[in-house]
Amino acid sequence: MRIVVTGGAGFVGSHLCDRLLAEGHTVIALDNLITGSTDNIAHLAGNKSFQFIYQDVTEYIYIAGEVDGVFHLASPASPIDFPTLPIQIMKVGALGTHKALGLAKAKGARFLLASTSEVYGDPEVHPQPETYWGHVNPIGPRGVYDEAKRFAEAMTMAYHRIHKIDTRIIRIFNTYGPRMRIKDGRVVPNFISQALRGEPLTVYGDGSQTRSFTFVSDLVEGMYRLFMSDVFTPVNIGNPNEYSILQFAEMVNSVTGNKAGVTFEPLPKDDPKRRRPDISKARRVLGWEPAVPLEKGLKQTVASFRRAIGM
Ligand code: NAD
Ligand code: UDP
Repeated sequence: MRIVVTGGAGFVGSHLCDRLLAEGHTVIALDNLITGSTDNIAHLAGNKSFQFIYQDVTEYIYIAGEVDGVFHLASPASPIDFPTLPIQIMKVGALGTHKALGLAKAKGARFLLASTSEVYGDPEVHPQPETYWGHVNPIGPRGVYDEAKRFAEAMTMAYHRIHKIDTRIIRIFNTYGPRMRIKDGRVVPNFISQALRGEPLTVYGDGSQTRSFTFVSDLVEGMYRLFMSDVFTPVNIGNPNEYSILQFAEMVNSVTGNKAGVTFEPLPKDDPKRRRPDISKARRVLGWEPAVPLEKGLKQTVASFRRAIGM
């Protein structure tokens, strides 16, 4: 297949490009590098099946020739980007999704939207099944991201219903791994880089809030299986093993041998208290479940951060 990946120079997007190429597909990555980096795809330079185009996908997307698939991943994704890039986030979720869907429509291509567990907001239902409609503060600091993704899901379903586009929606839960930005601001890169510098880990609030962490290779496997399936309704992909942030900090300190402990900082507004995917649907319709335990994925990520930081 000839596949377009928006956000292809990002953390997840670059791993997806690697996987698609390994499956024998031709890949065109589009990215405006707002939060991504060509470092993530530098190893693909010279690969005849791969092309990178610098493009803001909120603008009209022109691709010559046939396209069989569009994976739409373009969007800043870290909470530190929400206050600094709110308009860019809303534009890429709305206009960017519209343009990417327009490309899929023009080419008769299958379309996959990278949605998020954030559509569930600060959830009142635990764990979160796909049938839960969510609990989002539209005007809070996270609203720009959550509502952009909710709009993107609605737009995807509208194109599916009206234009009969073959669509997929993946709801991704916290994913980590090599190639995350050192200063990404999300908890995994923050804790690992602090630990490698021998600093205390910055736990927000009392650290009792929970998350469930998915290693990037597990996510990419789920994403690829969903794309290849015929399931057009949303599917959660995430690791259901739930940890408090304090437990997670202790694990990072133990894996890295950091003796500096933790320090407590204020909890950001609207920070979800609990998050864990119900993955019964992914198990049932995709035969998917995560394979990489947290400690193993963490060790690989720590090793990659050591190389990146030069420690
Ligand atoms: P990332 O920031 O590393 O990747 C996003 C990429 O999109 C970047 O390379 C960025 O430059 C690009 N981009 C942003 N706006 C663009 C625009 N207007 N035009 C072209 N390119 C643009 O983040 P990530 O963690 O790899 O996330 C990838 C996708 O997965 C995002 O859509 C995100 O919302 C979704 N997601 C990720 C997670 C996670 O835990 N990593 C969780 C839920 C959802
Ligand atoms: N967090 C933390 N210390 C940090 C960064 C994040 O305690 O240095 C917390 C954050 O408040 C949240 C959890 O870790 O409860 C996960 O945050 P992240 O930014 O990775 O993503 P989120 O799941 O909130 O979108």
